Amino acid sequence: MKLLHSVALFVNSLLTVSLSFAWIPPARQIATRPKSVGFPRRSFDGRKSSLSSTASSDTFQFQTGEPFPYALEVFQGAVTYNEMLSYLNNKLLEYGYSIPQTLCATSLCGDEMNRPLEQALSQTFCENYSLGGLAGCPFGGVTSFKKMKTHIPDGGNSVIVYGPHVGISQDGRIGHVDRAQISATEGEHTLCCRSAILAANHVSQVLRGEAEAMPMDLMDASQYFVGNMLRPYAERLEAHQDENSKMMDLPYVLFEGQTDLLYRIIQEGSQFGFPGAVAVLGGIQINTPPGYLDYYVPLRFELYNAEGQYLANMFESPS
Ligand SMILES: [Zn+2]
Repeated sequence: MKLLHSVALFVNSLLTVSLSFAWIPPARQIATRPKSVGFPRRSFDGRKSSLSSTASSDTFQFQTGEPFPYALEVFQGAVTYNEMLSYLNNKLLEYGYSIPQTLCATSLCGDEMNRPLEQALSQTFCENYSLGGLAGCPFGGVTSFKKMKTHIPDGGNSVIVYGPHVGISQDGRIGHVDRAQISATEGEHTLCCRSAILAANHVSQVLRGEAEAMPMDLMDASQYFVGNMLRPYAERLEAHQDENSKMMDLPYVLFEGQTDLLYRIIQEGSQFGFPGAVAVLGGIQINTPPGYLDYYVPLRFELYNAEGQYLANMFESPS
């Protein structure tokens, strides 16, 4: 009980100290963020995550399977889900979180390949709250975020895990994946993330003048907004020399768009006085063939207080 009390005091002191920070609005913060902090505005060859692959994996063993070294070659800084969960758990403790009083919210694509990570998060924290999201986009918006804040356990805090995903097939194709119960190795079912790829293809066609922009239709509203998110990046995606290269960049592009949207939601949704700090871990999920470990590339990890004010880069230790 004494320990819990001191932890609560530590979190409270962090939240209080934050009031003296010179706070920058998030959109501006993202636009001016130095590359070294971990935001993936990087050249194609130089990208790395901010989390070392040597992170401890001793604590959690939710995931089993063979390593898939090609994923680590292609996506530098990728870690296994076990490593990611251990790191997340330990960092939250370091920042004064009480794990049993932590509500975990996710914004991950609806593809069934992404559920094991959510299940592992639910077993670690309180039952998972979903903010997403075709292609991992936080389409629950401000209303969903505000609702999530009201569900934080008494005296607790929240953590959001978000990001796009990308598949790698057994034969090394990026943007494709083998699915355990489907024997055919070719076809639309192999696309991963299908929503992101279709949206990217569409914005490329619009850029080349080969298609009209997709009209807003309630029956496919989420896909419309995924396309909207990718439209500013159409030229960047179109500049890639080959399909594998484009598919490697696509999740990073989508991550930038999702990050911008999520931080706007946090700022808007935090103005209603609901208690609880919000830790935000963003990155890319990598889906590998059946029998192999999936991976996560952590790219951004930040702490915000109940009012949405930026407190800390959580890749670093509390100062
Ligand atoms: Zn998807």
